[in-house]
Amino acid sequence: MIGQDIKDYLIQILERRDIRKYMKRECPVVKNEIYELEITNLGANGEGIGRIDGYTLFVRGAIPGDKIRVKIIKTKKKYGYGIVADIIEPSNDRISPICPVANKCGGCSLQHMSYEGQLKYKESLIKESLIRIGEIDEALIEEISEPIIRANNPYYYRNKVQFPVRDNNGRIEIGFYAKSSHRIVETPRCYIQDTYNEEIIATIKKFMIDNQITAYNEFKHSGLIRHILIRKGATRDKFHVTIVINGKKLQKIKLLTENLMKLTKVEAFSLNVNQEKTNVVLGKQMINIEGPTYLIDNIKDISYQISPLSFYQVNPAQTVKLYDKVLEYTGLTGTETVYDLYCGIGTISLFLAKSAKEVHGVEIIDQAINDARENAKLNNIKNAFFYIGKSEEVMPELYVKKGIKADVVVVDPPRKGCDETLLKAMIEMAPKTIVYVSCDPGTLARDVKYLCGQGYILDKVCGCDMFCHSTHVETVVRLCLKESAK
Ligand code: SAH
Repeated sequence: MIGQDIKDYLIQILERRDIRKYMKRECPVVKNEIYELEITNLGANGEGIGRIDGYTLFVRGAIPGDKIRVKIIKTKKKYGYGIVADIIEPSNDRISPICPVANKCGGCSLQHMSYEGQLKYKESLIKESLIRIGEIDEALIEEISEPIIRANNPYYYRNKVQFPVRDNNGRIEIGFYAKSSHRIVETPRCYIQDTYNEEIIATIKKFMIDNQITAYNEFKHSGLIRHILIRKGATRDKFHVTIVINGKKLQKIKLLTENLMKLTKVEAFSLNVNQEKTNVVLGKQMINIEGPTYLIDNIKDISYQISPLSFYQVNPAQTVKLYDKVLEYTGLTGTETVYDLYCGIGTISLFLAKSAKEVHGVEIIDQAINDARENAKLNNIKNAFFYIGKSEEVMPELYVKKGIKADVVVVDPPRKGCDETLLKAMIEMAPKTIVYVSCDPGTLARDVKYLCGQGYILDKVCGCDMFCHSTHVETVVRLCLKESAK
């Protein structure tokens, strides 16, 4: 019996030591050493996460289920970084990426994961954010979450691409930036883009070589061509090409125009002037060289004209499904007044208009609002109204001064989420339903927490895979005003 007591006592001391070690947060790994590690989770940037003695390690290129040997490359107090030295046992979700440069290119961070695995990850990212940051009950999240809306084809889906063009000791490089860098990774094919881009790029590159047109050099801020932006109107399968130049004009532009317009699917060609020393791709000045300035596309039976600087969703096939989900969550019957905040070119507003009494769209970019108004005319929609300005300023004004009280509010903010002023104003107006479309589960969860603390109940959650092979995910949720607060 005494022996057992001593044993228990020793175990207690050892455990306490462990606790002390943990409390002091001693780092249990050493830089440049190799350790065995099981990956249990994925971080927000797609890096594998595993733990050694409670110490968190982030490992790029590793996925949950992988057993690896990790080489430690950096240690911090609470966490460290490693690289895969070798894979002892691959995860069931691990596949060979079809793109030969997937590991180098900064574009796709999940191509080494099966599509099923990617969807699982994105679903759990949404749920975890709502539970951890949103402080929503886990059982409720499980109950109200719908399966993520998957893509029929997770490849070749994008309708927009920006290729950086760079000078590398006299050689023209056109491709994508490497991960966390401005080094160009060249590739004959990008598997998430339309393959027609290849003909456009080949035409421009040949023109540059034949006519000694220089590519941009970021360090010297010299050279002419900085970026090639290609947008595609998916319904009509037409392409608009914009070349961003570090100058005012492009020599032999007539020849290039001829060459580009010979490509049957190219409908328009523009220049964009950007002479700033900046990472921002587009400058303010657009010069239309040939063809229409607006790209025309359809989402179901609505036509949209999109000016070059306006936001437009990048995955047309998934956009239809996303908007259908938004429409479903609004529960519109034809009698409701709706706000569509952060409305861009009015895509959601016009999509909802025929199911509502009236829709009021608010957007900060005036060109996008011009598009929205034109789009309403184009589709003969008379019950959609658009306003330029910040949602957090315009919406309260419309409510207080003009008495426009919404039954349903749709918000679709950028990654930083809704401004608190707007959330407060929404609570004041107390619409029955809020449909929140978000491209960042973290800020979505923050705002959901706020609204749930002020009389709303989260009752629907659905992810939509708009950005296949990247770690990004779109989410739609519905919040309903509690009966007692109505
Ligand atoms: N709902 C649209 C656009 C969503 S993207 C669609 O589905 O296409 C987010 C939009 O919010 C962008 O067009 C951006 O210009 C706009 N925006 C950003 N901050 C804003 C603010 N404070 N008020 C209004 N619009 C804003």
